[in-house]
Amino acid sequence: MDYDVIIIGAGPGGIFAAYELAKQRPGIRVAVFESGHALERRRCPIAEGKVASCIGCKPCSIMSGFGGAGAFSDGKYNITNDFGGTLYEYVGKEKALELMRYVDRINCEHGGEGTRLYTTAGTSFKKICMQNKLQLLDAEVRHLGTDINYVVLQNLYDELKDAVSFFFDERIESVERIEGGYRVNGRFGSATAPACVVSVGRSGSSWMEDVCHELDIPTRSNRVDLGVRVELPSVIFDDITDELYEGKIVYRTEKFEDNVRTFCMNPHGIVVAENTNGIVTVNGHSFEDEGKKTDNTNFALLVSKHFSIPFEDSNGYGESIARLSNMLGGGVIVQRFGDLERGRRSTKSRIEEGVVRPTLAATPGDLSLVLPKRILDGIIEMIYALDKIAPGTANDDTLLYGVEVKFYNMEVELDGNLETCYKGLFVIGDGSGVTHSLSHASASGVHVARVIAARA
Ligand SMILES: Cc1cc2nc3c(=O)[nH]c(=O)nc-3n(C[C@H](O)[C@H](O)[C@H](O)COP(=O)(O)OP(=O)(O)OC[C@H]3O[C@@H](n4cnc5c(N)ncnc54)[C@H](O)[C@@H]3O)c2cc1C
Repeated sequence: MDYDVIIIGAGPGGIFAAYELAKQRPGIRVAVFESGHALERRRCPIAEGKVASCIGCKPCSIMSGFGGAGAFSDGKYNITNDFGGTLYEYVGKEKALELMRYVDRINCEHGGEGTRLYTTAGTSFKKICMQNKLQLLDAEVRHLGTDINYVVLQNLYDELKDAVSFFFDERIESVERIEGGYRVNGRFGSATAPACVVSVGRSGSSWMEDVCHELDIPTRSNRVDLGVRVELPSVIFDDITDELYEGKIVYRTEKFEDNVRTFCMNPHGIVVAENTNGIVTVNGHSFEDEGKKTDNTNFALLVSKHFSIPFEDSNGYGESIARLSNMLGGGVIVQRFGDLERGRRSTKSRIEEGVVRPTLAATPGDLSLVLPKRILDGIIEMIYALDKIAPGTANDDTLLYGVEVKFYNMEVELDGNLETCYKGLFVIGDGSGVTHSLSHASASGVHVARVIAARA
């Protein structure tokens, strides 16, 4: 079990680190340890219709396994420095974009070639947004879709499996510094290498905190994003989504001067419940397959909160709000915008009488009892602002699901190589707090692989 490089985690970060190492240094001995299953064994009983709600599988096939948290995602690869992470702060803006474009090329060469690349360059929506106090962020978006995303992962695995040693269902328990490198320990025993790349994503966040604590690697707290998922008839947003697929739009509220932003737009998609460590929050999916498309579009409206002194646990704050919504609604709460504005809860009959057919069976309720006033006021202001560029957004029947929470890992102190204070120990992807998207996480893997390959 002696290798040249050990990678912990087979999400996009770990996969692209392994891919680039194998390309740059054929014959290099790389081991990837992944606590989840191999791709073909990843099955969620909810998605297969066997159970109605989460039964807490260990490992969770949505968040873990080959492909990481992104395996069953919509596969939106955003090529931009405006959102999705702060990789550019470490490698520079040009380099970050170059890395993301390289990832896009690899994805296209492995099954994504027929998919569309959307761009905000030259769009008239930029001006329309500005005229209505909204800012459209610049990005190119490769939309692989859930189905093609899976094909790309399968092809990448098929290409890598002979060059890289993959160990699935092998959770690394600890990382030790040893003479000349690192030893990782798990059920299988131990493995050693002079270089170790940690890429454990969001699901490995508390483990990452323990490792940083044990090895005395400095960290700092990150933000949490809170808000709702909006669902409306797709025709209302078709002009935007047909041209851009996903418009990342930011609004600065008049009342508090807070930023509210759209996130994860799913044209003709569905709203889904997501279970993270027993807390049920809301998310969205869409599909390339025409047969799976719905008449609705959904997207999140989020506000960022960052806590420092004396309370630093931004994620703990987000978890408490999500727990409150779970306590009141038994899971996700849904409310008509008109009911929220009139200060009343939604009921089953009010939802049924509306024109928007919910794609998620959530509990009709009152989101004003869950979300802090400042956040909710910002979301309402933004819905009216969006109504000016997409008339109908502020209709009474628009559905709001809550709560949507985006948790971020704490930021690990890293240098421009994404290397910790210990030579040869790298932390990449969402687990580092530097990235929070498919393209940034993948790009960070390529970057670190090139650093290691140049030293070999
Ligand atoms: C439902 C959903 C939809 C999404 N949609 C999009 C999208 O469309 N576009 C976008 O940009 N982003 C999307 N994201 C976010 C995106 O998936 C992540 O940003 C990305 O996967 C991060 O990659 P990563 O490699 O850093 O971590 P992950 O993908 O989380 O992979 C980390 C891997 O490490 C493994 N691991 C953890 N701890 C250990 C350990 N101790 N030992 C061994 N293995 C371990 C985990 O099992 C996991 O497989 C979505 C996320 C979800 C959950």
